[in-house]
Amino acid sequence: MQGLMMHRDLRIIDILRHAAEAHGDAGIVSARVEGDLHRQSYPQTLGRVAQLAHALTGLGVKTGDRVATLAWNGHRHFELYYAVAGIGAVCHTLNPRLAREQLLYIIAHADDRLLFVDADLVPLVVDLLPDLPEGLRLVVLTDRARMPETPHGALCYEELIAGQPATYDWPDLPEDTASGLCYTSGTTGHPKGALYSHRSTVLHAMQVPLCQTSSFRAGHCVLPVVPMFHVNAWGLPYTAPLTGMTLVMPGPNLDGPSLFRLMDGEGVWSAWGVPTVWAGLLSEIDAQGRIPQGFGDLVVGGSAAPRVMIEAYEARGVNVAQAWGMTEMSPIGSHGVLPPRYDGADDEDRITAKCCAGRRIFGLDFKIVDDDGTRLPHDGDATGELYVRGSTVISGYFENEDATRMAMDAEGWFGTGDVASVDSEGRLVIRDRAKDLVKSGGEWISSIDLENAALSHPAIAACAVVAMPHPKWDERPVLVAVASGAERPALEEMHAHMAGHFAHWQLPDDLVWVEELPLTATGKISKLTLRQRMADYVLPELRGGAA
Ligand code: AMP
Repeated sequence: MQGLMMHRDLRIIDILRHAAEAHGDAGIVSARVEGDLHRQSYPQTLGRVAQLAHALTGLGVKTGDRVATLAWNGHRHFELYYAVAGIGAVCHTLNPRLAREQLLYIIAHADDRLLFVDADLVPLVVDLLPDLPEGLRLVVLTDRARMPETPHGALCYEELIAGQPATYDWPDLPEDTASGLCYTSGTTGHPKGALYSHRSTVLHAMQVPLCQTSSFRAGHCVLPVVPMFHVNAWGLPYTAPLTGMTLVMPGPNLDGPSLFRLMDGEGVWSAWGVPTVWAGLLSEIDAQGRIPQGFGDLVVGGSAAPRVMIEAYEARGVNVAQAWGMTEMSPIGSHGVLPPRYDGADDEDRITAKCCAGRRIFGLDFKIVDDDGTRLPHDGDATGELYVRGSTVISGYFENEDATRMAMDAEGWFGTGDVASVDSEGRLVIRDRAKDLVKSGGEWISSIDLENAALSHPAIAACAVVAMPHPKWDERPVLVAVASGAERPALEEMHAHMAGHFAHWQLPDDLVWVEELPLTATGKISKLTLRQRMADYVLPELRGGAA
């Protein structure tokens, strides 16, 4: 048809070009591995990104090549995101907290050509070195004066880009060019890669601020505590420049006092990350008797935000929004901004509304299905596996046909592995990971719901509910808890505390106290490791005379 609108491909570099022009006062503040606090504006960043692009092409990086990063959140990592994608190559973020075998598998599977590494992570690479593919070039993200001892032939980042031209003739890439690669931590089997495109990344960058409206304010600061190696720091390296926000990058120190100091000093408005991090910040807030100055917005995702945590931040004047998403989705799928009708609602109703995973973002479709794959109604009650479809969802795993076959259904939807219900407003309630649900006597018990109820007891600092084998009921729930002080309530007391929300048969059969709970490489409580640790555990009822 004649006269149709122009077609311009969506390109990641255009986000930064726009920011450099429209939001020249904003930029990136980085708490660097070197120990300093570094500042640079978006126009300066665009210049350095161009220099890096020249350096990359000089090193022979071509369209489609994978360039790996092993780095914390900082401006150099940001520069890699844009320069690598800008020249048509793929920025492959590696998670330094993964086990050695997983890292080696991922690097080999992705066939990485170059590896950019933060100075403090060089020892990790030295450890991997004997088993790394030959020809993988190493670049250390620092200047010559601060180069650590490195293997022979390693390059220095600042030397590499120094003297390169600060402009680049960015190629007109098709929007379906691959731009980024991130592997899921993989609880079973090998890690699987999600390959993002320029199109999916730019669309995600536009969709998220459109929905998660409380967080994005031009001229304000946003803090991604969620790492840049975990699904592109939930897209913040793209959404922040697009909306004129300054990124405050925390580097490797994510403990409560370090975060408080950084947020307080920079006046961070919005902070994003997993619940475990916000528990640490909350302790520091209590120790200081105040919130960091300027702080007003918290986005919690990656696992369910406990109600007590939402209450605690809201009571201190911080607006909390929960988000749900996954590596396979760029990653945000739902946002926790409440509909306007909650504006005048009482606290109880507002907090209850914030305890779910929020409403679906524009551009994404949800469906929930039963075990036979039959669609269930979006009535807020019917519960089944959640499937998603949209321009920000993978169409299959990177170079992995078996995993792709398992994940995609016949209609081309992606199976999330989450068990959920959706209501008529698109509001999502994640009941559990399918593999974390407790299946007792043919009924499901949500571990998330039990954990939430247990956490509202003041003696419990952190907890996880795991399913333990039972000959009659298949599985029974056990509460594993970390105490917040000296008090250790008995199981009966916990039952009394939780009883209002559950039928008696849903309550845990045992309460096990531990010093700490194991975390995954992305900072979530690792139920897999916990179950492994409890391999020899026997439910009290089955312990013969010993119980
Ligand atoms: P990842 O790919 O590592 O980001 O993990 C994605 C998974 O984290 C999802 O499939 C969910 O099981 C879980 N998850 C993420 N956000 C939430 C949330 N707000 N509530 C409950 N579970 C969540």
